[in-house]
Amino acid sequence: MKIITILSGKGGVGKSSITASLALALSKDKKIICADCDVDASNLALVFGAENFEKWDDISTNEKAVFDLDKCGSCKRCFEACYFNAIDWVDNKPMLKDFSCEGCGACELVCKKGAITLEKVNNAKIGYANTKYGFEVTSAQLNPGESGSGKIVAAVKEKAKKLASDSEILLVDSAAGIGCPVIASVTGSDFAVIVTEPTPSGFSDMKKALQIVDHFKIQKGVIINKYDLNEEQTGNIKKFVKEKNIPILGEIPYDKRFTEALTKMIPITKYDETFEELFETIKNNVIELL
Ligand code: SF4
Ligand code: SF4
Repeated sequence: MKIITILSGKGGVGKSSITASLALALSKDKKIICADCDVDASNLALVFGAENFEKWDDISTNEKAVFDLDKCGSCKRCFEACYFNAIDWVDNKPMLKDFSCEGCGACELVCKKGAITLEKVNNAKIGYANTKYGFEVTSAQLNPGESGSGKIVAAVKEKAKKLASDSEILLVDSAAGIGCPVIASVTGSDFAVIVTEPTPSGFSDMKKALQIVDHFKIQKGVIINKYDLNEEQTGNIKKFVKEKNIPILGEIPYDKRFTEALTKMIPITKYDETFEELFETIKNNVIELL
């Protein structure tokens, strides 16, 4: 199974929308599965129009402090040690603010009474949706107050690998940004597709995404979305990638039909088949470099 990861460094550049149409193009001649690793804002299944998920499994990647107040000597050390301000002081005893606890363990370390332990919490569910296009999408649903972590991303990818172990391609829709979830998304990939747009922040975030991909020595290519919105900035991006010997996989024009397709939960190539040729070209460029 080859793993292709689509990332952008920056949210809102059309990554999931492009992932969906690339998935459809790939699925024409390969068995694929998708993993929605943008776990803080997972919406890839919705772009495919799949709203119902199957078999959510609880996963536990975080810990939280649990207090045994019968043992507490009210020394206030835990209150003072908590960097995340997750402990209130009520009636001369500590009280945890559940959503603020990061499970760092500092309070447990400073408590001399053994009144604090760290316990695993179920912080997300992992499941999958069947799309009407013949492949599945795995995804995570975070519990309230939880944020996406690299461990949750890794679990979403693992779920996909187990669910369709005979797939030729695992297409990973990465988390946005350049943090731990992105690194977990990119780790183990055979190819990275970096989506950018011709804005100063799009250009700058593309460079950060490239740093991650280069760190892991992953083969890559760039898609410029809405390239015609700022031809000068597009020119700057193209000059930059040419100097670095990074191939341009495709240039996608700005078109309000992308938004229309998104609101109707249909990949753009199904909403308007005139886009199929463009995504066939992008797919062929990816396959050639894979
Ligand atoms: S550090 Fe331990 S003993 Fe001190 S206030 Fe916190 S829980 Fe109580
Ligand atoms: S585990 Fe860390 S974040 Fe949570 S209450 Fe203790 S010190 Fe604060």
